[in-house]
Amino acid sequence: MKTQVVWFKRDLRLFDHTALAEAAKLGPVLPLIMVEPEYWQLPDTSARQWEFWRGCIVELGREIAAQGGRLMIRTGSATDIFEDLHSRMGSFDLWSHEETGNHWTYRRDLAVKAWARGHDISWRERRQFGVTRGRTQDRDHWAKRWDQMMRQPITATPVIEWAKTVPSDALPTANELSLAPDVLLHPQRSGRVAGLALLKTFLHERGMAYSREMSSPVTAESACSRLSPYLAYGALSMREVYQAAEERASQISRERPAGHSVWSRSIRSFTARLHWHCHFIQKLESEPEIEWEPFAKIYIGMRPRPGNPAYLKAWSEGRTGYPFIDAAMRYLNAHGWINFRMRAMLMSFATYDLWLPWQEAGLVLARKFVDFEPGIHWSQCQMQAGETGINTIRVYSPIKQSHDQDPSGDFIRAWVPELAGVAGSMVHEPWQMQVLRLTLCPDYPQPFVDHKTASKQAKDEIFGRRKLAVARAEAQGVYLRHGSRSGPRSRKISKKRPTHPKVEAPQLLLDL
Ligand SMILES: Cc1cc2nc3c(=O)[nH]c(=O)nc-3n(C[C@H](O)[C@H](O)[C@H](O)COP(=O)(O)OP(=O)(O)OC[C@H]3O[C@@H](n4cnc5c(N)ncnc54)[C@H](O)[C@@H]3O)c2cc1C
Repeated sequence: MKTQVVWFKRDLRLFDHTALAEAAKLGPVLPLIMVEPEYWQLPDTSARQWEFWRGCIVELGREIAAQGGRLMIRTGSATDIFEDLHSRMGSFDLWSHEETGNHWTYRRDLAVKAWARGHDISWRERRQFGVTRGRTQDRDHWAKRWDQMMRQPITATPVIEWAKTVPSDALPTANELSLAPDVLLHPQRSGRVAGLALLKTFLHERGMAYSREMSSPVTAESACSRLSPYLAYGALSMREVYQAAEERASQISRERPAGHSVWSRSIRSFTARLHWHCHFIQKLESEPEIEWEPFAKIYIGMRPRPGNPAYLKAWSEGRTGYPFIDAAMRYLNAHGWINFRMRAMLMSFATYDLWLPWQEAGLVLARKFVDFEPGIHWSQCQMQAGETGINTIRVYSPIKQSHDQDPSGDFIRAWVPELAGVAGSMVHEPWQMQVLRLTLCPDYPQPFVDHKTASKQAKDEIFGRRKLAVARAEAQGVYLRHGSRSGPRSRKISKKRPTHPKVEAPQLLLDL
């Protein structure tokens, strides 16, 4: 029987793995991890991502070893590795999941496809998310297909006959991959076991407060599921997470524990976000150009490129002079994660207040996020920068957010030690202090832009373009290609195409 090479990419698990289960029925399985040094030199990659990925691989290797197999690790370019395998073991079948990655992985996959065709190798890819392959998508029935996919039975871990392995490389270190040093002060534990533990505590203990506490960085750390990196690297399957949440929702409605209505609301809110996960990745799958070009072409060139390098640096280091922005950024630098509201606020500040292009600010954030997921990331960066053409323009005030999400100011004091000595509400706006400022926080910078003035200029520029007839016509096209039809409001209007493409409101109504 032919060897079945299962190429693990961002699907680092044996459980609910469709490609693996199908491959195992056809012959001995050779599990393969490829470490591609060129990928790890891309500007959206970082050592913190590598460390998480590496941890998942080590655990996957242990799981395979416990079943009598051996995970083969190869370093190099994909086509060179396949060529070498082919010369050593002859023909094989190739399996993987359908990856919606960045432009580099897309081109790499095209090269692998051409190589496979040239060597008469069949490469079968299977879905792991509710994303439909290909450029042109029927968005009207997308949500239904997502539901069907998530409700399909889980694929049990198959009984696997492992192939005799060919020589394997050691997993390189971040240093060997020439990644810039990037040690997290508070890393999230990597691997499937840690992911499953988080899923359990979220659904049974931590998640009750999810809806209420997701927006403040003070409470979000424990109230949010924290599952994003496990989903991004496939240590958990989206379907197993969705089904576990649905099962918990049924249990709550059957047993009606204390606070059951709060619990139910939180679980509903959580499963809505699982849906958004795939909804956003679909946008990149259908239009890969959104990694570098706005959805609405009317905004091309609106923000100068390159943006002001001093602003980009100060923002990235948490030295803008806006305490809550700086605290959020420094928290992110130390954790590799921060909650949605803070990500949106950081992007809003970069693109409205500092007028930086989302492409540049987005790359900085991509490297900082351990859970970097290109489809979600680039869609969100554009949405927060107001360049999709279809979403409400939402500028976050760093001062209002500071008062709302950190009323005591303790989060700021913890993450911006230069302000530790500033008592009371002055910590939100230290520039309001006159002489005292020099005594209490001499090392903290003055804000280098005025929020009100800078954000007004930005909004004027965007609205100036947005009201042009050509922009309205273009927005209609963006809606038809990418707009969500799944929210309660858009369900009502989905039969009749909207004349005003204000259709992604459900995303904003989620109080993210
Ligand atoms: C500018 C910007 C960039 C972002 N980049 C990423 C990214 O690279 N990778 C990433 O996973 N998320 C990204 N997000 C979305 C969101 O902030 C994170 O998914 C979330 O904070 C992860 O924490 P959690 O797992 O505790 O989320 P929870 O709130 O517990 O949600 C559960 C899961 O739902 C999905 N999800 C949650 N919120 C969203 C959302 N708004 N859009 C799409 N999917 C969502 C994620 O897979 C998440 O793990 C970005 C948001 C913004 C504003």
